Amino acid sequence: MDANVRALINQYGVTTDTLRFLDQPKRMFIDGEFIEGNHQMARVEDPSTGGQLTEIPLATTEDVDSAVAAAKYAMKKGEWSQKTPREREQILRRIAELIRENAQTLAEIECLDSGKAITGCKAVDINVGANTFEYFAGWATKIQGATRDNSFPVQCMTYTRKEPVGVVGAIVPWNWPFAMAVWKLAAPLAVGCSVVLKPAEMTSLSMLYLMELCVKAGLPRGAINIITGKGSVVGNYIVGHPDVAKVSFTGSTPVGKMVGAAAIDNIAHMTLELGGKSPMVAFEDADIDAVARATLNSVYFNAGQVCSAGSRLYVHRSRYEEAVEKVKAIAESIKLAPSLDPTGVMGPVISAGQRNSILGYIDKGKAEGATLVTGGQSLDGPGHFIQPTLFADCRNDMTIVQEEIFGPVLAMSVFDDEEEAMTLANDSIFGLAASIWTQDLSRAHRLIPQMDAGSVWVNIHDPGDPSMPFGGFKQSGIGKDLGPEQLEHFLETKGVWIKV
Ligand code: NAD
Repeated sequence: MDANVRALINQYGVTTDTLRFLDQPKRMFIDGEFIEGNHQMARVEDPSTGGQLTEIPLATTEDVDSAVAAAKYAMKKGEWSQKTPREREQILRRIAELIRENAQTLAEIECLDSGKAITGCKAVDINVGANTFEYFAGWATKIQGATRDNSFPVQCMTYTRKEPVGVVGAIVPWNWPFAMAVWKLAAPLAVGCSVVLKPAEMTSLSMLYLMELCVKAGLPRGAINIITGKGSVVGNYIVGHPDVAKVSFTGSTPVGKMVGAAAIDNIAHMTLELGGKSPMVAFEDADIDAVARATLNSVYFNAGQVCSAGSRLYVHRSRYEEAVEKVKAIAESIKLAPSLDPTGVMGPVISAGQRNSILGYIDKGKAEGATLVTGGQSLDGPGHFIQPTLFADCRNDMTIVQEEIFGPVLAMSVFDDEEEAMTLANDSIFGLAASIWTQDLSRAHRLIPQMDAGSVWVNIHDPGDPSMPFGGFKQSGIGKDLGPEQLEHFLETKGVWIKV
């Protein structure tokens, strides 16, 4: 570990388990064991200091073959396949309990790995993980087929069975390394599938720590396997593996298109949770203070690295100037700090590359005529910090309004009536989420069906609960994570006929 990272840890303090985990060599988790091997190692950076945090092994395609074979054996013949639904429920509940008991350690590992601000990480990311395991634990005993009355001339009894689809190949991004991975694990485990999961190469640590908790929870070998390494090498190999029956991907739209093509080549089932450019639409009767505060949980949360970030804000002309002033005040109140600082609101972005990409978008915004109201700079010194940034006077033909920036950059625009607001909000290749801000419930109900978005929120932005499905329309994806809808993605329906 680099001296700057050690100094940061000493300044804020971490649990003894965090230190123990960070200082030990990192190993992939295959067939119930942290495997030894002569792997090439990759540097893992702490985004707050830019210093080396640790190293992770770069998996080979042979590692993927071993993981897929272990997963296949686990769900077809191994101990995992022998577990009753109630036993699966108990294991998932135990994992959730262990996540809660070790929340501080998990949050510290996640924040050092990703740059997230610790307070938000513990309250949101780690909590989401525990809640998601608990929610799907409850479903393990409630998977059911149905009897059917048929009209076939020969008397037959007919019914359907819901069966686990097979080995799941899961790939997740770096912006919610823990929470997104848990979204990919809990539902398939509840129905009896096994999973081979690849975290993003920059943020694998919380999954490796979770595997220690899964072993303690009694999860049988092979039920979860964690492959660390490059998307272009092992990610690509997982999604095209002939023994992977279901591909469950979260990441960018361009990579999602490649993943989808690889999955379809094997006629594998697939869920694609992809990028977004989600609008917030505030009408003349909106609570503008609430709209401004909501930017803290939408575009400025997690340094804007949120798929459903409300990164476009459309405000009715009569309230526009007021809204610009209030959002500016919120943006300027945000304290940037290293991830472990408990008083920090926003940490760094994930990497120098991501910082430079965001700064490139800010330059484009200025060049294309948007008004920079506040922010727009990166901070000097170590770490990849970017000021919360607000652009006003944006038009829908601007790059910063159309492309996913994945940083703390909000583009504000004005509209005059409902029809124009809907046209502007829906003018995007993406359709992940949207929020409507109005005191008029009739208007809200009228507009909800008109929004091209997988989630529509009224007078709130980005709430979440494992009971509610999440997933995009248009190029934001195919299929849903969470809710009963997600369970269906991991089940095959078998039709059974018995001549009686
Ligand atoms: P990314 O697409 O670059 O990478 C995502 C994952 O795919 C990583 O693990 C990466 O290693 C892997 N990968 C890369 N190339 C691959 C290939 N050829 N085959 C298989 N796997 C490959 O995305 P990112 O930069 O890590 O994450 C940011 C993106 O994720 C944003 O677009 C964001 O909107 C999206 N996201 C979507 C949701 C959602 O629920 N819709 C949630 C979080 C993030």
